[in-house]
Amino acid sequence: VPGFEKASFPVPTDLLVGDAWVPGSGGKRIDILDPATGGVLTSVADATVADGMAALDAAEAAAAGWAATPPRARAVILQRCFQAIVDNVDWLAQLIALENGKALPDARGEVLYAAEFFRWYAEEAVRINGDLSIAPAGGNRIMVQYQPIGISLLITPWNFPAAMATRKIAPALAAGCTCILKPAEETPLTALAVGEILRQAGVPAGVVNIVNTSDPASVCSAILRDRRTRKLSFTGSTEVGRILLREASYNVINSSMELGGNAPFLVLDDADLDAAIDGAMIAKMRNAGEACTAANRFYVQEGIYPAFVEKLVEKMGALKMGAGTDAASQCGAMINRAAIDKIETLVNDAVAKGASVRLGGKTPEGAGFFYPPSVLADVSLDADLLREEIFGPVAAVVPFAHVEDAVRMANDTEYGLAAYVYTENMKLGLQLAERLEYGMVALNRGLVSDPAAPFGGVKQSGLGREGAHHGLLEFTEAKYIAVNW
Ligand code: ADP
Repeated sequence: VPGFEKASFPVPTDLLVGDAWVPGSGGKRIDILDPATGGVLTSVADATVADGMAALDAAEAAAAGWAATPPRARAVILQRCFQAIVDNVDWLAQLIALENGKALPDARGEVLYAAEFFRWYAEEAVRINGDLSIAPAGGNRIMVQYQPIGISLLITPWNFPAAMATRKIAPALAAGCTCILKPAEETPLTALAVGEILRQAGVPAGVVNIVNTSDPASVCSAILRDRRTRKLSFTGSTEVGRILLREASYNVINSSMELGGNAPFLVLDDADLDAAIDGAMIAKMRNAGEACTAANRFYVQEGIYPAFVEKLVEKMGALKMGAGTDAASQCGAMINRAAIDKIETLVNDAVAKGASVRLGGKTPEGAGFFYPPSVLADVSLDADLLREEIFGPVAAVVPFAHVEDAVRMANDTEYGLAAYVYTENMKLGLQLAERLEYGMVALNRGLVSDPAAPFGGVKQSGLGREGAHHGLLEFTEAKYIAVNW
C-alpha cells in the first residue's frame, strides 16, 4: 500500500489462513478505492468458497488447542495484542483514514477504542466463572460451567474497520474460540493489518483467519452451512442481518446481531445548551455520521429550539471538510458514491416536504465522496430521514411542545439501538431513559460506546450484546452438570 513506509511491516493484501498469507484459489483481486479521490488505492485477494473452507479447516485445526490453553495464557496474549495495537496507533489511524475516508482524529479514536477490547477481554478471560448450587429439592447439586461455543464466523462493516473486528475477535479468543473474520469489501486493509499485528503479538496459527471476498453471500453461507461452525457474530444492516439469520437457521447457529439504528436525540427546555451542543456534535459528527449510534433525529423542545439550531449551525459550519488523511480535516469523506446518493435522496425528500436548509445540503463539485456538514430545521414528520438512517453528516431537527410527544416520536421506529437525552432534571431523565425503547440511552452524554459496557439494540436493531462480560458470554455455552452428592 503506497505511503505506508511508516508501518512496522508491509500492509498485507492477501488472505490469512492458518499460519500463512495466501493469495486465494480464484486468482482474482478486489480493488480498494480511496474515498477522498475515488481512485484505486490497491487491491486485495478475493476469497472463493474454497478459500472460506480452507479458513474453516484452519480454525478447526486450532480449536482444541486454543480451548485448552489456560485462561491466563490466553489473557497474556490478548494483553500483548492490546499493547501492539496501541504501539502502532499512528500508522493504523492513517490506514483507516485512507481506506475508509474518515478524519484522522476519528481514525485515531477508533484505533484506541479497538485496542481497548483486547485489554478488557484480557481481564475477562480469567473471570469466566460458573456456579454451583443445591437443587431446590435437595439431594443433588447443579454445576454450571461456561465452555467456548466453538468456531465463530465474524462479519464486520466498513464504518469502524478496526473496532468492529476487535470487538468480536477479543471476546471470541478470551472465551477460547477460534474464528474466521470476513471484513467489509470496502475496508479490508485495516483488518488485514490488525491480523498481522495479532500474529506478531503471539496469537497462534489458525486462531484468527481472515477472508475478504467480493461474494460474501456464497462464502459466508458455505461456512454457516458447515456443521463445524457454531457461532455467527454480525455487525451491519438489518437487511443483511435478516438474510444471515436465515442462513444461520439451517444449522441452528447461535447468532449475535448488531444491526441498524435510528437514534433520537432529545433536548428538553431545561437542558444545559452548551453541553447539549457538545453532545450533539459527538453524537452526530463522530465518524462524519457514519455510525449506527449516530444521532439521526433531533427532537428539541420549543423553548430551547431556536438557540439550539443556531448554535448547532455555528458549530457544524465551523468543521473543516477534507481528505481523512489531511491532518486539518474534521469531517472526512463518505465511504462511496452510493452513500452520497442516499444522503442526497433523503435531504431532497425532507426539503420537498418543507424542511429548511440552515447549513450545507448540497454535494460539492469535484472528486471524492464528500458531503458537507448540514443542518435541516423544521423537518416535517413525514420526511423519510426521520425513519431511515442517513449515515452522514446531516442533522435533522424537529421541534416539540410536550415531553410525551418526544417520547412517542422517539419510539415510533422499528429500530432500538441508541437514544440520547439532555435535561438537567435527573429524575425525569432517568424516567425517560427507562421509557425509551432502546438498548442504550445516553443521559447528558454524546457517546455510549465503551468496551466495558454492554453494546446492543432491541427491536430490529439486533440480538445480543458486545462488550462487557455480556460480550464474552456470547461466545460461550452454559454446560450444566447434575451431580449426585
Ligand atoms: P453496510 O450497509 O454497512 O455496507 P452491509 O450489511 O451491507 O452493511 O454489510 C456488512 C457486512 O456484511 C459486510 O462485511 C458485507 O460484505 C457483509 N454481507 C453483505 N451481504 C452479505 C450476505 N448475503 N452474506 C454474508 N455477508 C454479507
